[in-house]
Parts: sequence; structure tokens; C-alpha cells
Amino acid sequence: MVQDIFPHHFENTFMHRPPQPEDFVLAYDGDRLLMAHDGGITLPTVAQISGPLQYLFTLDDRGYYLLEAPAPSAPAGFAYEGSREYRSWEPAETRYACAVAESLHRWYRGNRFCGCCGTPMEKSKTERAMVCPACGNTVYPKICPAVIVGVCDGDRLLLTKYNGRVTKQYALVAGFAEIGETIEETVRREVFEEVGLKLGQLRFYKSQPWVFTDTLLMGFYAQLHGDDAIRLQEEELSLGQWFHRSELPDDHSGISLTGEMIETFRRGQDPFSLARHGQQHPLEV
Ligand SMILES: [Zn+2]
Repeated sequence: MVQDIFPHHFENTFMHRPPQPEDFVLAYDGDRLLMAHDGGITLPTVAQISGPLQYLFTLDDRGYYLLEAPAPSAPAGFAYEGSREYRSWEPAETRYACAVAESLHRWYRGNRFCGCCGTPMEKSKTERAMVCPACGNTVYPKICPAVIVGVCDGDRLLLTKYNGRVTKQYALVAGFAEIGETIEETVRREVFEEVGLKLGQLRFYKSQPWVFTDTLLMGFYAQLHGDDAIRLQEEELSLGQWFHRSELPDDHSGISLTGEMIETFRRGQDPFSLARHGQQHPLEV
């Protein structure tokens, strides 16, 4: 998946770290990021781009800094690119760093003024937070919890297609947590709303920081309980259909949790299939 960059090491602990000439600069024009696409992704360095810099994180001991200034003109060989383009480019660790940086860039840009009183916000000196000097309002980076649900009925998995999405790929039931509900309740509510099915047991699979939309995805497999007739929420979905394990598509990119969950079920490696064969799901930590 997009966050699987081992053996590279991503470290996002908040700290005060002065930029070094060989560290990288994330310079944005709107949501587009300055980079060279020369068979891979190459970011400009502190030596190449000057201006006020905000430390974001390190990757393999190289610092990544957000340029807090209007978008500079692109040096020779560089251009501003959107994440829809670069999310399929290599190397995987740089792609992931760019995606995390974009989420932090959106957060810094969207919290320059206090939402309570309108005063310009200041950066906390002790943690990654924006603080209002007038009323004390403190804002932390925004992460929206959401679920991806693989609804299972024996050897069948429920696939969906969303209305109005650019991608034509199959998806699983998905949706955001509402305020006041547990994530398990989100799973049951979203499945009932989108396809009208009731669920028995739930098994957590893995989570994924889907930083392109500031989302933390939590993937569950869920057993169908009762009637298997699909009642589609047509404003949201264009298709909801049961697929036998042997009929599932295997053309996923390896980027998304959805793709990995469909592939895991196709191979009979999901927690319910493993349990039927007396095996435990090997939880990776
Ligand atoms: Zn305020």
C-alpha cells in the first residue's frame, strides 16, 4: 500500500530541526507540488530554493520542509504536479513523503486564522498545533476516520462502484465516521445505508493513512447476517454486486487498502477464510 515503504523510515515526531542544504523543499502552487519527473520523483533541495521553511518530517534522516512563501518559478527541469499524477510514480518512499506533506500543507494553509475569533493563528512551539493568541483556541492536524468494509458471505465478496468517480475500478463499501458513534457502528451503518445489508461478526484487518484526503481508513471484513438481497443507495453507488472468490478482479495497483482487501479475499487470506481452515490472521505490527 502507499504507506508501505520499508526499509525506508518515516519519522514525523514534532521537533525543531534547522534545515541542511541537502534537505528537501516542498513548494506548492495551490495543491500542486514542485518536482522533477525524470523517470522518478525528484524534489528540490534547500540549496536550490530559498525562503521561510517549516519543518515537516524526516525520511531516512533527510529533512522535508514546507516553503511558506508564494510559489517560486520552477527551476529548469522542474514543474508543479498534482497528486493524481504523482501517486503512481516511483520511488514509493518519495511519493509517500509528498502525499503526507500535501496533507500538512492543506492544514497549515487552512488554519491561518482562528475559527472562533478570526485572529491570526500562531504555531505552537511545543507540538504540531496552531494556537490563537487571543482566545487560546488550539487546532491539531485534521484526520478524518473512515471505514472500508469487505462484506463477506462464504466465498462471496460484495463489490461496489461509486457514482461520479473518475476511477472505474471496483470498490468496497466505505464511509466516514459520524460524531458520537464507534467505528464498529460506522461499519454497520454504512453497509446498511449503502447496500441495505445487515452484518454479523466484524474482523479488523488493517488501517491506512489515506493522506490524499486527510483520512485514516480502517479496513474491516464483515460477515453477512440474514438476507443477501442488495438494496442500493443510488445517489452514492452505481453498482453493488456479489462476486465469487474466483471471479474477483486482480488488477489492483497495490496502492490502496481497498485493492489489498479485495486481493486478500481473492486469495482466501482474509480472517474469515483463515478461521474456517483453523488458521489465525497474522496481524502485522
Ligand atoms: Zn481565537
